[in-house]
Amino acid sequence: MQPFFDTITLAADLRGCPNRCLHCWMGHRPNPHLGPEALREIAADFRPYARRLVVEDWNREPDYPDNYREMWALCSELSDGHGPHFELMSVWRAARDESYIPWLRSLGVRAVQLTFFGGRAATDRYTGRPGAYDDLLWAVEALLRAGIAPRIQSFLYRDTVNELPHLQSLLADLDLDRRCARLGVPFDFFLHQGSCDGAAEALYPLWPTPADLEQVPEDLAARTCRHFGKASLRAVFGDTEADLCRALAQDTSTHPLELDDPVFFVDGAFNVYPNRTAPSPGWLLGNLRTQGPQAVLETYLHHRSPAQRILATVPICDLVRAYGDPESQRLFGRGDYLDLLVNRMSRA
Ligand code: SF4
Repeated sequence: MQPFFDTITLAADLRGCPNRCLHCWMGHRPNPHLGPEALREIAADFRPYARRLVVEDWNREPDYPDNYREMWALCSELSDGHGPHFELMSVWRAARDESYIPWLRSLGVRAVQLTFFGGRAATDRYTGRPGAYDDLLWAVEALLRAGIAPRIQSFLYRDTVNELPHLQSLLADLDLDRRCARLGVPFDFFLHQGSCDGAAEALYPLWPTPADLEQVPEDLAARTCRHFGKASLRAVFGDTEADLCRALAQDTSTHPLELDDPVFFVDGAFNVYPNRTAPSPGWLLGNLRTQGPQAVLETYLHHRSPAQRILATVPICDLVRAYGDPESQRLFGRGDYLDLLVNRMSRA
């Protein structure tokens, strides 16, 4: 029987990203150079298999291609209901195209998320692009001018914790509480550690511990708790790996990937992955050009990719025993931690 879903969402990586962030959960891959025809073909491949199709032309940097307006219109044409625009943008483009941020505003965008790692050197290094910090400062002013509130996130690692006082001063210098309030959008800031997958897996040695949380300035901690609706930073950052290992050591359950309303990543070589963690060989469902969409969907539905097989068949206690570190004080949410272990096993 032909696979059929209520909704399939496609996020196709047509142009990649100008950055190479150290924390990038999507991983570092070459930038593809694909255009409208490729997106039409990808959408046509999946069209017979869903009642409703939603198509996006990016899964790394939104609006990175020069023809971003044409691509937005094409995504709307190929989708059964598209938008609103995500509260994400291309900072690279914003600093090079004065009409870009007003265009975002014309689509109804009221807030946009930006990522700082502290000062210029740390932000450029973590973003993987010289000039990233200056582009961000430029983007903050351009957003406010256009009536869009910047929302700022930062990632906490052992070598970024000492950047936090700088970040706190920056928020005060930019006067973001007052300037965002004037737009009717409360200024929002939050810290987190992200997920330990893709390029970010290499940051495992720098992963934050409870001792690092104690160094977070009070104001940034309070803003973070407010953003996540949590009572403490510990509740935001999760449990230590040691505690997770202890708690999961007796857990004999498995958790197969949920299959309803899939979101698929399509990379620049037409490989397809589920939107669960970094697109990587362990999660590969197949290739649209060489195997076709039906084979891709059957792999997905029957849990045939190596990582899906692990999720469906390996009890959590076995994953933890084989790949966890019962001495580690690193902090993880439970789901992100299990994905780290599944990714390790799928490479073994
Ligand atoms: S985190 Fe986002 S901006 Fe940074 S490299 Fe990955 S896709 Fe690009």
